Amino acid sequence: MKALFNKLFGRMIKTKGSLCGHETALRGTVEVFGKTLTLKNQDPPQHCLQCLADMSIRCAWCREPILVGDPITLYTPRPTYEIPDHAVYYSDNPVQLVGCLRWDCADSGASRAGFWLPSETEAGVAVVQRVLSPLEQCMMGGGTVIVNDASNVAEAVNNTTAFIKEYNEKMEIVWRKRAEELVDSMLPGE
Ligand SMILES: [Zn+2]
Ligand SMILES: [Zn+2]
Repeated sequence: MKALFNKLFGRMIKTKGSLCGHETALRGTVEVFGKTLTLKNQDPPQHCLQCLADMSIRCAWCREPILVGDPITLYTPRPTYEIPDHAVYYSDNPVQLVGCLRWDCADSGASRAGFWLPSETEAGVAVVQRVLSPLEQCMMGGGTVIVNDASNVAEAVNNTTAFIKEYNEKMEIVWRKRAEELVDSMLPGE
């Protein structure tokens, strides 16, 4: 019966997040810092859509939202940078702040240092899932990008929201290309 409903109504059935315990649709709209967004949940869900939305943070640099599933950077600010109150610290020494990977914010897609992901064990908590950046992968692999780690995380991310899945697939190609170019430009010429 449930399967039939799912077919007819596109998986809008309410169920409970296993971690947060709130009722949730598998797909729905939420407000994130004043913007209305459509989110697709994991099935079975670990968190309700509202709890997922509430895990959003703002970029330490451009102040735009970072949602669960988003790729992130971990830059260290210059000593003169006035760190905003909303900034999320990844480490204190050296200071590394969680930033977004928007074109006008990150140095390049090759700076992707991880993802902002919901905790697997704790309700209402999101954490930095560190992965090797495409640049780090390139440098280790002598110009060849090994994406195993990144794509595993992308799998987990894909379960969280559909639009982030599409975004990541598109961006992964761009990042890899950009990372290869960067490493090429860093290697001594023939
Ligand atoms: Zn919840
Ligand atoms: Zn930003």
